Amino acid sequence: MGNTSLERRYTPLIILLLVAALVATLGLWAADRAGTGQGNSQQGVKTASGEHYQWKMVTTWPKNFPGLGMAAEHFADMVKEMSDGRLTVHVYGAGELVPAMAVFDSVSQGVVDAGHGAAYYWKGKVPSSVFFTSIPFGLNAQEMNGWLHYGGGLELWQEAYAPHNLVPMAGGSTGVQMAGWFNKEINSIDDLKGLKMRIPGMAGEVFAAAGGTAVNIPGGELYTSMQTGVIDALEWVGPYNDQAFGFQEVAKYYYYPGWHEPGSILEFVVNKDSLMALPGDLQAIVRTASRVANQDMLDEYTARNNAALQSLVNEYGVQLRRLPDDVLLALWRGTQKVMKQLVASDPMAAKVYASYQKFYRGVRNYHHISEQAYINARDKAIGDDEF
Ligand code: CA
Repeated sequence: MGNTSLERRYTPLIILLLVAALVATLGLWAADRAGTGQGNSQQGVKTASGEHYQWKMVTTWPKNFPGLGMAAEHFADMVKEMSDGRLTVHVYGAGELVPAMAVFDSVSQGVVDAGHGAAYYWKGKVPSSVFFTSIPFGLNAQEMNGWLHYGGGLELWQEAYAPHNLVPMAGGSTGVQMAGWFNKEINSIDDLKGLKMRIPGMAGEVFAAAGGTAVNIPGGELYTSMQTGVIDALEWVGPYNDQAFGFQEVAKYYYYPGWHEPGSILEFVVNKDSLMALPGDLQAIVRTASRVANQDMLDEYTARNNAALQSLVNEYGVQLRRLPDDVLLALWRGTQKVMKQLVASDPMAAKVYASYQKFYRGVRNYHHISEQAYINARDKAIGDDEF
């Protein structure tokens, strides 16, 4: 009987606790449902196999464009596979969600989670960004990867982008580019005067100092711009990528070497909040996938550029030309002036330049007796023999 009186005494308390537990459970369920709603791609979704995340990635390239455009697709495929579908990245080409040149702002403002493009496109917002893509007469692809990943470059890139709530990662490498497409021969620096050329980054300023007009136009608009005379000349990447855009149909002369972009690095930019919302293993997967996509692009260009060059010259009659030494020397003098102005105008650019310059001196010295010495020796020994 004592038990009954005990039950009577505690029953209201037990019922109260049960009701409170039910209310709390319903509240959590409702909050979870609200969090999985549309419009917030940073929010994780709980399923039986754990938390799932969906990212939107915008790019400065046409959707599925060979070479440059495939880095984002490759990244998305790797992330999905490595995370067993816990993180999926939907890739949008230029203009699908935002215009090509709005990638930086869209990711910075959290409109989307991530982007793929080139740092030097944003030099108006971040002057030091030119160092993280390529600067005239600067590091080649192998050297850039060394500086970024083992020379302090990536940390400086992160510092430069931190005020914009962005985390940058290397997102592909083109190797040495081609100097570009022209419809007249360039025999002296004066031949650049009056030309309107698509040439972004610091090289554009050097080109302007040489008397030309430099503009930056997204890749997808270049063919028409050249065809309709909006521009007189253009540089894009190299044979494999340039042939895909069809520039051989609108220009006659194809110049080398790529003084202006000796080893361009593309970029993945990730909204910091989107990255931090991921658990540690998914963050590691994002960093690993970007690193793999970065190297993979260089591998692909290395494998495909020569076949494309042979096709351009032999099937399309493109005239291959080397820029004369005195033109290159004049462009180098111009680069020195533009560099001085950049470093004087922006403290972060000065800080990045100090790191870049230190690395440059060391690696250039070593490459004299390694890469450069080997290629010279190979050419001299083999000559015109078949390998
Ligand atoms: Ca280029």
